[in-house]
Amino acid sequence: MRVTIGWLYGRKMNIYGDRGNVQTVAQRARWRGIDADVREIGIGDPLPDEIDVFFFGGGQDQSQVAVARDLQGEKGERLKAAVADGAALLAICGGYQLLGHEYRPHDAEPLPGIGLFDLVTEAGPERFIGNVLIGSRWGELVGFENHSGLTHLGPGVEPMGKVLVGRGNNGQDGTEGAIAGTAVGCYMHGALLPKNPTLADWLLETGLRRRDPSFTLSPLDDTFETAAHATARERARTTR
Ligand code: GLN
Repeated sequence: MRVTIGWLYGRKMNIYGDRGNVQTVAQRARWRGIDADVREIGIGDPLPDEIDVFFFGGGQDQSQVAVARDLQGEKGERLKAAVADGAALLAICGGYQLLGHEYRPHDAEPLPGIGLFDLVTEAGPERFIGNVLIGSRWGELVGFENHSGLTHLGPGVEPMGKVLVGRGNNGQDGTEGAIAGTAVGCYMHGALLPKNPTLADWLLETGLRRRDPSFTLSPLDDTFETAAHATARERARTTR
């Protein structure tokens, strides 16, 4: 069995170790005897057909300008079609922002998104930096945020979770992230997945179910991941 991972703009959108998300899903597949093939999809590259799980990391405003331009047109439409067909996707921060309708940075023209998520982001006056803890359908998730973007979800959009510690989408409405079918976006760097194995496995299993709807992942011994999660959760609860 094989899982094909599409790493969107890995060289340009990879701050705060977001590549760790790619490594985590690939390794959790390999531990189960599933071959994992990571395909980096850069600026100007076509979007391959056979991607099971997409990752899109964070990046500074200047990196987002070139990436936003590259995603417009056929490439963005193909990405939305792949997700609509069941491919899993995790987008973090700058990547998350560009999958909405628009991202309005401080010192640049508004950047067009592709509308995978029904949301809009505008740079705010304050930078949100610190540990984040949310309650979600995957249990409590822990991460780290560093963004000035304030994201507002469209009506009826399911947030990824409820902020327990930190600022989340906009520091006002108590939401963090967004869910659109098999796509999840959020502001949680870390990298997010090494310390949140339930979400990592959901992405892997969801992506593999695109080709085999009956597929179910075998369990792993997550002793270390669970311990790391507990330590990070405690740190988030005691220090902002
Ligand atoms: N440039 C965006 C912001 O500041 C995203 C930053 C990031 O990806 N950490 O909101």
